[in-house]
Amino acid sequence: MSTFSIRDLPKTNTFTQKLPPDPQYPTPASSHKEERSKLGPRLVREAAYTYVRPDGFEKSELVGVSATALKDLAIDPSTIESEDFKDTVAGRKIITLDNGTEPKDDAIYPWAQCYGGYQFGQWAGQLGDGRAISLFETTNPETKVRYELQLKGAGKTPYSRFADGRAVVRSSIREFVVSEALNALRIPTTRALSLTLAPQARVRRETMEPGAIVARFAQSWLRIGTFDLPRSRGDRDTIRKLADYAAEEVFGGWDKLPGKIDSNDTTPSTGVPKDELQGEAEHQQNRYTRLYREIVRRNAKMVAYWQAYAFTNGVLNTDNTSIMGLSIDFGPFAFLDNFDPNYTPNHDDHMLRYAYKNQPSIIWWNLVRLGESLGELIGSGDRCDEEEFVKEGVRKDWADELVKRAETLIEATGEEYKAVFMAEYKRLMSARLGLKQCKEGDFENLYSELLDTLEALELDFNHTFRKLSYISTDQIDSEEKRKEVAGTFFHHDGLGSLAGSEADARQRIANWLAAYRTRVLEDWADSPEEERFAAMRSVNPKFVPRSWVLDEIIERVEKKGEREVLGRVTKMALNPFEEKWDGDAEEEKRWCGDVPRYQRAMQCSCSS
Ligand code: AMP
Ligand code: MG
Repeated sequence: MSTFSIRDLPKTNTFTQKLPPDPQYPTPASSHKEERSKLGPRLVREAAYTYVRPDGFEKSELVGVSATALKDLAIDPSTIESEDFKDTVAGRKIITLDNGTEPKDDAIYPWAQCYGGYQFGQWAGQLGDGRAISLFETTNPETKVRYELQLKGAGKTPYSRFADGRAVVRSSIREFVVSEALNALRIPTTRALSLTLAPQARVRRETMEPGAIVARFAQSWLRIGTFDLPRSRGDRDTIRKLADYAAEEVFGGWDKLPGKIDSNDTTPSTGVPKDELQGEAEHQQNRYTRLYREIVRRNAKMVAYWQAYAFTNGVLNTDNTSIMGLSIDFGPFAFLDNFDPNYTPNHDDHMLRYAYKNQPSIIWWNLVRLGESLGELIGSGDRCDEEEFVKEGVRKDWADELVKRAETLIEATGEEYKAVFMAEYKRLMSARLGLKQCKEGDFENLYSELLDTLEALELDFNHTFRKLSYISTDQIDSEEKRKEVAGTFFHHDGLGSLAGSEADARQRIANWLAAYRTRVLEDWADSPEEERFAAMRSVNPKFVPRSWVLDEIIERVEKKGEREVLGRVTKMALNPFEEKWDGDAEEEKRWCGDVPRYQRAMQCSCSS
């Protein structure tokens, strides 16, 4: 496989070439010549982005690089010590610019995206990349996947509003590690290439803190909020341009989007009940409807993963919901420790709007906002390309018909969302339990009962699945043995105070193990047990970056000046299914073991 230095990496700027720039700085040169402080903050209309150069730290230290990210981006690992690499990911150098010359109109020049969003259910107006600046796109020649590389924390943009455009060390460590951890767990996510610290920089939060920059990348950074903003301004043109861009450039062409929902087809792939789509609406599923459905389906799959791995984003505003169905914008996220559906990692979310159990319905709430932004295009049916509609919008005499069609289609897509979510959730839970299929009754008897048990007995969610991946059917073939094995799932310091008596707890787990054993024997009758163990251990991680582990690392890096610890945790995050990582054996054991009692279910503030 051919790999490149960051300078030689093949680069493009499709986003800035195809989408409308900020009218005040329509070319790279117009922004480049301007004093940086004059670019903003301000309101930006009829635009998808503003050209803006990074304002990196003078002095910085590259402390983390993801080996998997290098591979996915086709960057040669032997080039990461170069000045080019370090200066680029620290925002000190624009690698696509010939020094001293004025950038041409089609130059690959850094930009910040314009978007808005609903925050905690309220319309928040223009937000945008307030501290993220994209540098370029690059396509891996082997996989043909195109990524947009961006820096988080490299200075103010026109979208910074009242804030400083910076990021602090603690939140940058968290984002760097979790992006790559989620990816290794196969959970759709934006990615992280590198972590750069600026220990001397002073960034004001509740106290003064050192600064940092994460170089992150994704196939697209478009969010639902990207569509919310032009909708709030009645800017039909920009919505249509963004939708066309999403279909053609992000999803690879209109022909790659899902086919029409056939109302005669009630297979699980669409799962749409027959009478959801009737008559006209069914025939008038135009390409924008298919685009909407693609976005919905991807988000359904993403949130199914979150639920199956007990990941909580913590701030699911529409600006933090990707149209590609990627986990995006890592603030007060967390993996659950003990299973508690009401848990939220967000200290300020008193209403529990973004609690674990609410994630599937919140993502749908956000997708309905997108449905509203795309509503006119979806509802226009076969007329979506008529000149009059494109130029002037909906004529009064067919407005009712359009609205009705849009509503019907969005509602039907809601059914599709549920069906895709359910199918994906069942697939993942079956795999985590080591079952080959989800049979009638499994959902109630195995999944729900397990979750209820974990909740009632205050047991660790992800550890339970890993522990199950070592238990043979022989070890649980009698009631006595099952009660004995039940203790494996307890915390080392015993049951929590609300969990009831130990005898009852053992009995409850034993009952579940009996039902579980029956199903395992059904699915694996003729296979050696090692095969099932291997399958289970390849989907049930030994290591996930829990909040308490991240806190320890932050403390050690920020306060004690340690650096190697980042390399060790990154290796674990990149290879979560391994047994060991050949780092520090004591540390590995601790981080994969019981969460210390007083560090369970921690919460963070939104400040980052
Ligand atoms: P978030 O809560 O991280 O999704 O951020 C919401 C909005 O605030 C986005 O538009 C961010 O770009 C912006 N933002 C957050 N922190 C900062 C900061 N330190 N400087 C500038 N903009 C910020
Ligand atoms: Mg955000």
